[in-house]
Amino acid sequence: MEEIIYKTSLAILIIAFFIVRAPSVSKSAKTEKSEEKKPTRERFMVFLNFVGMVGVPFIYVLTPWLDIFTFPVPEVIRIFGIIFNIAGLIFLAWIHRTLGQHWSMMLNLGKEHKLITAGPYGRIRHPMYTYFYILVISTALISANIFVGIFGFVAWTLLYVVRVGDEEAMLLEEFGEDYQEYMKRTGRLLPKF
Ligand code: SAH
Repeated sequence: MEEIIYKTSLAILIIAFFIVRAPSVSKSAKTEKSEEKKPTRERFMVFLNFVGMVGVPFIYVLTPWLDIFTFPVPEVIRIFGIIFNIAGLIFLAWIHRTLGQHWSMMLNLGKEHKLITAGPYGRIRHPMYTYFYILVISTALISANIFVGIFGFVAWTLLYVVRVGDEEAMLLEEFGEDYQEYMKRTGRLLPKF
């Protein structure tokens, strides 16, 4: 398949991500929140991930600057990347529907925050973070570009590693035993059966 088809597909998939997210962004803006935890670190990491998930992929889509980092990925794997990304978007829509107004880009709790344990949260504590791994891996496969792949994967892993412990500590403080019990029956990124 021509490179332009992969580039166009990736651009459409990145735009689709923002469309899937849009209702939650507006709902979250209307929900009163507590103070953000670690705001400077979180804002920097979120910005870095915006660069990794949107900025760098768009440099690949729109310019030849990253062509030297092209990596020979078989056509069938690149097509698999597109399907994997679409499956991820469906998963993301389910996650957003379940989490509703409790979603936020940064680390904080709503004034009337409830612990969600339904749907994708039934067996995984951080399904949205699982989704971001699906996103960075599928983006790497579609672009067949080692720079796009490594930048996205490392930026996401950094945010995940620094955030997940603080997020769980915040939820433990808020929900106490309920969250402790919830932790026992769920996996962080992969389902626990
Ligand atoms: N880590 C989750 C949610 C990401 S959105 C995931 O990967 O799916 C980040 C916000 O979600 C946090 O600020 C926290 O307030 C909230 N949150 C995380 N887990 C939650 C849960 N089980 N129930 C309700 N809110 C949750």
